Amino acid sequence: MSKLLIIEDSFLIRKVIKHLASSELNCEFDFAENYAQTKELIANNNYFLALADLNLPDAPNGEVVELTLEHSISTIVLTGTTNEELRKKLLTMGVLDYIFKENRDSYVSAIKMVNQLILNQDIKVLVADDSKTLRSYISAQLSKLLYQVIEAEDGVEAIKALTKDPTIGLLITDYNMPKMNGIELIRNVRKSRLRDEFPIIGLSSSSDPSLSARFIKHGANDFLVTPFMQEEFQWRIIKAMEQIALINDIRDAANRDYLTKLYNRRYFFSVGKKSFINAQENNNHFSVVLLDIDYFKKINDNYGHDVGDTVLIELSQFLNKWFEGLLVARYGGEEFILIIRDLDANKVNTLLNAFRVQVSQQVIEVNGNEISFTLSIGVANNIDNVKSLDDLIKCADVALYKAKDSGRNIVVWEDEPIGI
Ligand code: GH3
Ligand code: MG
Ligand code: MG
Repeated sequence: MSKLLIIEDSFLIRKVIKHLASSELNCEFDFAENYAQTKELIANNNYFLALADLNLPDAPNGEVVELTLEHSISTIVLTGTTNEELRKKLLTMGVLDYIFKENRDSYVSAIKMVNQLILNQDIKVLVADDSKTLRSYISAQLSKLLYQVIEAEDGVEAIKALTKDPTIGLLITDYNMPKMNGIELIRNVRKSRLRDEFPIIGLSSSSDPSLSARFIKHGANDFLVTPFMQEEFQWRIIKAMEQIALINDIRDAANRDYLTKLYNRRYFFSVGKKSFINAQENNNHFSVVLLDIDYFKKINDNYGHDVGDTVLIELSQFLNKWFEGLLVARYGGEEFILIIRDLDANKVNTLLNAFRVQVSQQVIEVNGNEISFTLSIGVANNIDNVKSLDDLIKCADVALYKAKDSGRNIVVWEDEPIGI
């Protein structure tokens, strides 16, 4: 895996960055203290990115940046001076960005930027432009930001690329293109991919000021006037991506329970109902499972509500880990719900009992208290016997009551399950 190279001669600054990087950074990193060390490290390692100090004892005039760029390592410069000439020189040299070494916050920004660049490596950007020169220029800028770039010569090609690869995460499109122009392209894309899900940036030339408004009106998230400056380009892209991420975060938060961060009941039903219908149509195994903490009220009464909350959070994390990839949700207070698909009843039974035993043997430490508890579990899987997911849940609920009645810490199946 490729690493980050941090080049900095000051011991104090290295210490600050090391501390931040150890806790915040999502990749491996090396430190170089001077030009000579940088050269040696580059020769023996694979770096995707460098954070480089401009002035080093054995390279006082930014020579180390020339070195990293020569080796095609995307480079962010750390600099102590705020001079305009230097800024221009650095950008002409091809550095990604420059960060002024002012205080701890500067290094926090640098680490944030590195993490964003790491994420960029997984994002595909489609560039639609008939001018090969401009396309190559934009692609080069995007590659420097570590995005994966796909190019299209016109709108028709762009549609083809988007259909072929639905994981493309951003479209940058020119207006004037043969076969299909930029606005027609956007109108086409927006039939299936909404503005708050998929960002599009239009390119409009400065000679046609009305174009930017038309881009936005027809569904672009933003526009860039060409020719543009590298910095503006970067920030427009970052902002467009951030906006989508923010909307995704809000959407995700609305689907989750505030305390445990598990999916909430509403989300469970919206996804679960579709899954239920699909299982019925295809005659697949489909089990719905209700899990309820035994005597949870006693935990609250004995240790306090906060401790009860922590127990709910811990159990939620354990559920997520154990049933990774499955639909797990908080159904109510101390009751959870789960859908297990494509597994026959015997396997479901084994899995649930193993989970139940694990939970019963677990001791959770909260504020110096050692807490253990058990679960009662009700399961229903007879989708031929019911009309809806709600009905199947009712069967699981009856089974859960029986589990409670028969002494708790037990898995109980509905009256007429399939295959058990
Ligand atoms: P049983 O074995 O029959 O399920 O007994 P129980 O005590 O677990 O069940 P009961 O339904 O009597 O009590 C559930 C308790 O869960 C009551 C309620 O105050 C508590 N509870 C519900 N939501 C939360 C929460 O978000 N945090 C905490 N700490 N407690 C909660
Ligand atoms: Mg309970
Ligand atoms: Mg309950």
